[in-house]
Amino acid sequence: MVEAGRATLFTDNRYTVQAWAEVHGAEVEITGKSSLVAAGARLASLRGRVRAGFAPEQVTVQQSTVVSQAAGKRVRWTPVAGAVEGLRGVKDAGEIAMIREAAILAGRVWVSVLKLVKPGVTEIELAAEIEYGMRMGGATGPAFDTIVASGPRAALPHGRASAKPLEKNELVVFDLGAILRGYCSDITRTVYLGRAPRKIKGWYAAVLEAQEAARAAVKSGVTAGEVDAAARRVLERRRLGKRFTHSTGHGLGIEVHEAPRLARGDQSRLAAGNVITIEPGVYIEGTGGIRIEDDVWVQDGGAETLSQARRELLEL
Ligand code: ZN
Ligand code: ZN
Repeated sequence: MVEAGRATLFTDNRYTVQAWAEVHGAEVEITGKSSLVAAGARLASLRGRVRAGFAPEQVTVQQSTVVSQAAGKRVRWTPVAGAVEGLRGVKDAGEIAMIREAAILAGRVWVSVLKLVKPGVTEIELAAEIEYGMRMGGATGPAFDTIVASGPRAALPHGRASAKPLEKNELVVFDLGAILRGYCSDITRTVYLGRAPRKIKGWYAAVLEAQEAARAAVKSGVTAGEVDAAARRVLERRRLGKRFTHSTGHGLGIEVHEAPRLARGDQSRLAAGNVITIEPGVYIEGTGGIRIEDDVWVQDGGAETLSQARRELLEL
């Protein structure tokens, strides 16, 4: 809980040692009650008119009810959407360094599993190898369920790894991220199993061009919608606009999806210190999909791409 003059972490005695070791810049209050009830009781103890806001993105309806009941009627307890997310959107140098490491780890792990990408191996087996590799590289876990989507399944932008074995002459989309010291990465690469037909090479070139155009458009002060438009324009010119069915990217940090969102027409302005993904894709029902995603650090006058695995089409 953050008050004008102090910040407090309420927790119980399962976390005493960990809280003392890990919490900096806040008081720790170990409570015998639930931490939500303790926070509500703190609000109830404050004098005068008390207004308290909570992040509705983080707090369930049930948790909110517990706090508000413990706080009592005198406390105005209201959701304040975006307040915490807004603060988290701008990263300091230490946070950027951790996201960079997580991004490089994800790229390295993806490269290391390419030797296993053969007809017959299942999507789940590849996802397992990726998650094992990330942990062996120091990650505390994957930032989300690793996506390995092959053949027609690659047309699902969020197709989780399934028991489907890879087959020859298919696209395979890998979307993976690591959590390293609390910070997430999120990258996507697409490969072709076999010699890619001309049509697929054309789609791939279009997605790569769109991704490069969007990355080139990133700098502080531009709107999220302008970056989205830079990717969309390229795909529309190649008559693939309708095949690009999601937004261009999202903020990244302690969570894998944070503000800002790079959606069509979004008027929020990028700020130096934002870290965002750039991930245009095209999806052709029945055939497959292609997506290329990198993690980008917004700076004044430009941007730096933190993730580094190669982007040209690999035919395996
Ligand atoms: Zn992703
Ligand atoms: Zn993403």
